[in-house]
Amino acid sequence: MKVLNHSYSHESGVVVYGQYFLERRTMVSEQQQEQKKVAMVIVAHPDDAEFGAAGTVAKWVREGWDVYYVLLTDAVGGGPDEATDVGPAARRAIAETRKREQRAAGAVLGLKDVIFLNYPDGQLQPTIELRRDIVRVLRKYRPTRVICQSPDRTWTPVMIIGRYHPDHLASGQAVISALYPASQNPWDFPELLEEGLMPHKVSEVYIMGAPFSNYFVDISETMDKKIEALLCHQSQFIGRVDELEKMMRTRIAELGKKYWVAYAEEFHRTENR
Ligand SMILES: [Zn+2]
Repeated sequence: MKVLNHSYSHESGVVVYGQYFLERRTMVSEQQQEQKKVAMVIVAHPDDAEFGAAGTVAKWVREGWDVYYVLLTDAVGGGPDEATDVGPAARRAIAETRKREQRAAGAVLGLKDVIFLNYPDGQLQPTIELRRDIVRVLRKYRPTRVICQSPDRTWTPVMIIGRYHPDHLASGQAVISALYPASQNPWDFPELLEEGLMPHKVSEVYIMGAPFSNYFVDISETMDKKIEALLCHQSQFIGRVDELEKMMRTRIAELGKKYWVAYAEEFHRTENR
């Protein structure tokens, strides 16, 4: 490599030299042109995305993004706490209700589609099979941005389901393993290449409920949409809709205060360059 000159790139924080610098910039700009406004939210259960990210999703949809939800489980485990009939028929009924509610929330938010991978609810494991199935949807829909759950537990003084449910932790582990590097690596899951699914690089990852958040989205203008989408999950909030709305507005406003906006959602955001 002939060094023609050198410069400091503020974007990447590394010193780059001459021709290499030019080549690298060309590569990046070609890559940026290829990037489409497609985002994907991958979570374990119905309502997970509404609690953590629906304000951001509604904002991206307003900005012209095509957003897809991918639900990893079959949603059979979300029945009432006081249930005594937890047999197959009751489970099927719950799954149908919860999927219908998730699709209704998707319609409120303006999603392109809601996809269910139907792994058993309450038993999610970050297996190689799950990783392959996530890589399949990543390569098929080719999102630039992915929102997912945290594979790391955040220790809190009181157990809260968002941070402690083992499906959520497994979901985070499986999604991050799928998008880096398997989705972009042709040598991972050769059967997918045979299906005609070319490698795909996800550029931005937004992790909900991470132990450390480094990014916020001002959702002041889409807070009402978030609440409307959340309330589509009626089976989860029977008799406590008002309480839930009040609790969510208080919690999201507190988060907003941290960032000097009315309402905010926060993430750990990381780039894949
Ligand atoms: Zn959940």
